[in-house]
Amino acid sequence: MMGTKTYEELLAEMEELQIQLQEAQDAIEAIRTGQVDALVVRNGSSHQLYTLKSADQTYRVFIEKMKEGAVTLDKNGVILYSNTQFSSMIGLPLPAVIGMNFMDFIPAEFADYFNQLSNKGWQSDSKGEIQLKRKNNERIPFLLSFASLELDEGKALSIILTDLTVQKETEEQLRLKNELLEEARGKADKMNEELEDIVIARTRDLYLSREHFRFLADNIPVIVWTTEKNGDAVYFNKQWYEYTGLTFENSKGDRCKQVYHPDDIASYKRVWEEAIKSKTGFHCEYRIKRSIDGSFRWHLGKAEPFTDESGDVIAWFGTSIDIEDQKKEMEKKDEFITTASHELKTPLSSAKGYVQLIGRQKTLSGTASQYVAKANESINKLQHLINNLLDVSKIAAGKLKFTTETFNLSILINSCVEDCRHMYGAYNLQMEVQDDIFVTGNSERLEQVLMNLISNAVKYSADSKEIVICGECKDDWAIVSVTDFGIGLTDENQQKVFERFFRVEEDRFSPGLGIGLYISSEIIKEHHGKIQVRSKVKQGSTFSFSLPLARP
Ligand code: ADP
Repeated sequence: MMGTKTYEELLAEMEELQIQLQEAQDAIEAIRTGQVDALVVRNGSSHQLYTLKSADQTYRVFIEKMKEGAVTLDKNGVILYSNTQFSSMIGLPLPAVIGMNFMDFIPAEFADYFNQLSNKGWQSDSKGEIQLKRKNNERIPFLLSFASLELDEGKALSIILTDLTVQKETEEQLRLKNELLEEARGKADKMNEELEDIVIARTRDLYLSREHFRFLADNIPVIVWTTEKNGDAVYFNKQWYEYTGLTFENSKGDRCKQVYHPDDIASYKRVWEEAIKSKTGFHCEYRIKRSIDGSFRWHLGKAEPFTDESGDVIAWFGTSIDIEDQKKEMEKKDEFITTASHELKTPLSSAKGYVQLIGRQKTLSGTASQYVAKANESINKLQHLINNLLDVSKIAAGKLKFTTETFNLSILINSCVEDCRHMYGAYNLQMEVQDDIFVTGNSERLEQVLMNLISNAVKYSADSKEIVICGECKDDWAIVSVTDFGIGLTDENQQKVFERFFRVEEDRFSPGLGIGLYISSEIIKEHHGKIQVRSKVKQGSTFSFSLPLARP
């Protein structure tokens, strides 16, 4: 049992210990800086002196300065030497590191691997990646390079430690990037596959729809053709080649015109140019030479533009229908109408004369006078009808000619509306007409047009008694319109109302022949004007025509 130490004894002991500590630190510093070449290490109960065989200050300084950690171990794994870098890597002060067993820094799961590497390192150089424990148990990845050293007292093992943290992080980043890349590549491959499938499916659909189109086109009794956006032909169906006897080479572009009647080419070209310019449907009648007998037969050519998303025309799809027989029938009908109208005109005029003579009789009773007035009214209606039929014949024969003069359209509209107010007393005819609209034309024919538009407005708006007549100048045009709020027209019927003999099916019970608007449109055409309709079913219609203003 040790006796209690006095204060002085304890003080002396502490001083002694401090001196020893100072000596130890000095020794380490001396080794680090190369001032000494030897080291005494406690080994169990004894001390052992270690001397570096080729202790060279240059190398020590070099080892001190390098980024890697460097340690030297004895055969038991005790750290004989460590550079400052290793101590800071491991997070312990250098004096604490010296003399520690290196195994203290090896996590249990790496112990076997480390032993393998160090055993090998004693024999020859070896390398391996291992994690070391820092003071707070944090793990750091290291590359350990082993080499054995010859010391005076025997062999020692030197280890160079390269911190792999940054490298591992970079590797990890690289791995993650790689994963992302792989994922992206996978997606791209999948998309590619899907795209390929879509392309295959689309190609098949395209093939099917082309074959479908070809089959249909070759099996309908109509000539089918397509052109580029400028009107150059690029496709014809079987019927074209059979009808014309031409080959594709002789038909493509505008070579197809060689089988058109020379008299029709100018109008055909004009209509095409207008259609291309306005991007609206092409509609034209022209004669095509039939190869079997060399005869020219009338065809109705129609084409519609095919546009892309931005509205630009990509191609035109057209048809040509042989209307020769129809035309002949029409001609016969026209001839009959002309003859019948003429035949009716003379007896009707004399009937009208006789009725007028009767009307002048002074002895006529009140009732008889009324009958005469009624007969007169009917005869007038008949005359109007016959005149219209004769107009149709004249148009068909291209003989709707008239003289023209410059006159004030405003006055004509006013007087027309005045007459109509007497004729259609139940209707409220509003007028919005600008003064002094001068045009050059035939006032009687233009009056006929306006009267027709107003009488139609009355006829087709039984439930609404409002009618608005407008007349104005806009740019270089005189525009006259008649608006009603009656039954209106579907879009489809609006396209057809100016055709000869067209009547809306539902209106067949109201009187009329379907020729008034046809004659009107021909009269306006002859005046180099335009006629059109805007309408909505059950809301009413606005029929309007425009004429070029007379030049002062
Ligand atoms: P109709 O003698 O049959 O009236 P039109 O050529 O003047 O002949 O008119 C042709 C067809 O257009 C008419 O039958 C009618 O169906 C339709 N129509 C004409 N004007 C109007 C209108 N203002 N409102 C509705 N439909 C109209």
